[in-house]
Amino acid sequence: MSSDPILFALLDRASGVLLGQACGDALGVPYEFSWPPEGDAEMRGGGRGSYAPGEWSDDTQMAICIARVSERGGGLRTTAELDEIAAAFEDWFASGPTGVGTQTATVLRAAAQLEGSPSQRLTAAARALHEETGRTAGNGALMRTGVVGLVALDDREATARAATAVAQLTHADPLAAESCVLWSEAIRVAVTESRLDVRAGLDLLEPDRRDAWEAWITDAEKEVPDADLRTNGFTVTALQAAWHAIYLSPYFSPGLTTEYDHMVSHLPDALHRAVRIGGATDTVAAVAGALLGARHGTQYIPPEWARAVHGWPGMRGIDVSRLGRLTAQRGLHAAPTGQTCPVCGVYGKHIERYPDFVCSWCAAWVTDEDGRYVWLSNTSFSGGFDAHYADGKPASDLARSGKVFIAGQPFRASEARFGGVVVEAVAE
Ligand SMILES: [Mg+2]
Repeated sequence: MSSDPILFALLDRASGVLLGQACGDALGVPYEFSWPPEGDAEMRGGGRGSYAPGEWSDDTQMAICIARVSERGGGLRTTAELDEIAAAFEDWFASGPTGVGTQTATVLRAAAQLEGSPSQRLTAAARALHEETGRTAGNGALMRTGVVGLVALDDREATARAATAVAQLTHADPLAAESCVLWSEAIRVAVTESRLDVRAGLDLLEPDRRDAWEAWITDAEKEVPDADLRTNGFTVTALQAAWHAIYLSPYFSPGLTTEYDHMVSHLPDALHRAVRIGGATDTVAAVAGALLGARHGTQYIPPEWARAVHGWPGMRGIDVSRLGRLTAQRGLHAAPTGQTCPVCGVYGKHIERYPDFVCSWCAAWVTDEDGRYVWLSNTSFSGGFDAHYADGKPASDLARSGKVFIAGQPFRASEARFGGVVVEAVAE
């Protein structure tokens, strides 16, 4: 949407956070606490929640509870926003989700018996559980923290405060919040600087906590870490496992790379590695996927995965992509300028000729009249445009005539004056 290429790339990476997480989650679902695959994982559903192929689990479901608040751009700085997230967790839990972590379930059940605002009740229940057991550093806060890395892209302290507050709603052990601070900051840095650096947030932790985390990260970077990465129900090990998969991939590069195979292969290769570790495969791959999506953006997420993922609350890839993009953009800019995409609401420069221009992220989800995804392309010589399916075959006559759909709603596609293809809203 934006004519600013730097902002466009940044928003593409922001759009990749929840989409990358959703892909990792759905890829890991069939293998959760079961035999990990020997080769590549398959997004085939099943697992502990009888999932459909491509369906995401509680990791992405709870992240969406956060994202539906953060997409408004408040930066998760207020108690009111925390209350909304806490209430969303409770509503989600009450709806009988496909799966829920033991610790999160215990906290949500206990919180329902307490007085006070939703965030007060959850935080108090989490604290009481920690005082009772001393062991509340499950991976359930880390698994949903990716989107928190987008709430304040220009403010690392605000990002860390938000990560801590959201973690503490269910996880009182400081290790849980620390893992969320590190991962959220890594995502903020990946989106804003195109770097993969899980140490970027070490200085945001309490001084006496930094050495321990430095040692855990260093261990995770070994070919064979001292930690048993399969015991990744623990938030420290889950973070180690996710980083291990990202870092040990032969396609890993910490900063900018122009090597095409690094860009195109890193995310899928690292997600397959994450699932092969075993244990909470969906969670480790979801955590890894959020950071990989933040680094590489939607353009390097395999389209067959992006188009397959879906889940509670009736969302698909296009929706989680939007939640990340809006969280990032509205967190950076208080008031919209220019014009907004008629599908997702992201804003960009006003284009006189195309006031109802659909942003390129939403235009990537165009289908024919039967919901089949189509690729639109400019036909350079004849001066027009064409539409085809993933297999290269021509799309339906209707789609090729420019009548296309996004999430079931009709749109018009045509050759764009400025090159490429433009998709626009049609009058009712
Ligand atoms: Mg899960």
